[in-house]
Amino acid sequence: MSVNRPLILISNDDGIEAAGILSLVAAMDGLGDIIVAAPLNEQSAVGHAITMRDPVRARPWPFRGPSGQITAYAISGTPADCVKLAMDKLVPRTPDLVVSGINHGPNTAVNVIYSGTVSAATEASILGIPAIAFSYCRWGGGDFEASGRIARKIAERTLKGGLTPGLLLNVNIPDLPLSDIKGLMITRQAKSKWEESFAERMDPFNRPYYWLSGKFINLDSGDKTDIAAVEAGFVSITPIQHDLTAHQAISDLEEWDWS
Ligand code: MN
Repeated sequence: MSVNRPLILISNDDGIEAAGILSLVAAMDGLGDIIVAAPLNEQSAVGHAITMRDPVRARPWPFRGPSGQITAYAISGTPADCVKLAMDKLVPRTPDLVVSGINHGPNTAVNVIYSGTVSAATEASILGIPAIAFSYCRWGGGDFEASGRIARKIAERTLKGGLTPGLLLNVNIPDLPLSDIKGLMITRQAKSKWEESFAERMDPFNRPYYWLSGKFINLDSGDKTDIAAVEAGFVSITPIQHDLTAHQAISDLEEWDWS
């Protein structure tokens, strides 16, 4: 590997065999040296979980990109584990960029909290590396062609300009052919929630068990939200951060009588 070239670390949450990560590797081809550290098994919706009570293993994985063999590891852990382990033990030098995805399904609104795709990028930002999470707003199947082109463009721009430390980009790409995508929109997270309903069934030992299902509710009518952008045919780019402090609440709470 040439040290003059940028190093790009690639992860995801759909697992190392997902179509989305293959597209992301193809999209990054030629932008720099590439290393893949992705979960062996699907880890969607694990959020920022890390593995502490079990060993984590990294298995060298035969991963072919458009320009040939890529250095790749299948990790027996979560997306956050993948980035942590790669940064400490697997990368030949500090990466210039970490990209995660391309996720099969949107990561807009409150889903950012549950997303493993976003968490891989968040972990990178915690470690001080510019990071981008990419999601293709379609559940299963589809064509990653447009998403790949867009991911490349955004990665190139980010490599050139860098990101403010602590910041990462959460990118959601509409399920449209490239020619129908209207452009890029800088957005905020929409307010939303899941209305959960747990199906209750009985196991063979007559004990009840529950299976999560839910309905996504958009509570936000704003026109510059991640959801609104995607619905209007734009690529949504939301700057996010792991600092969860509600800064606007500090002065108010300081004035409370705590006695
Ligand atoms: Mn996923």
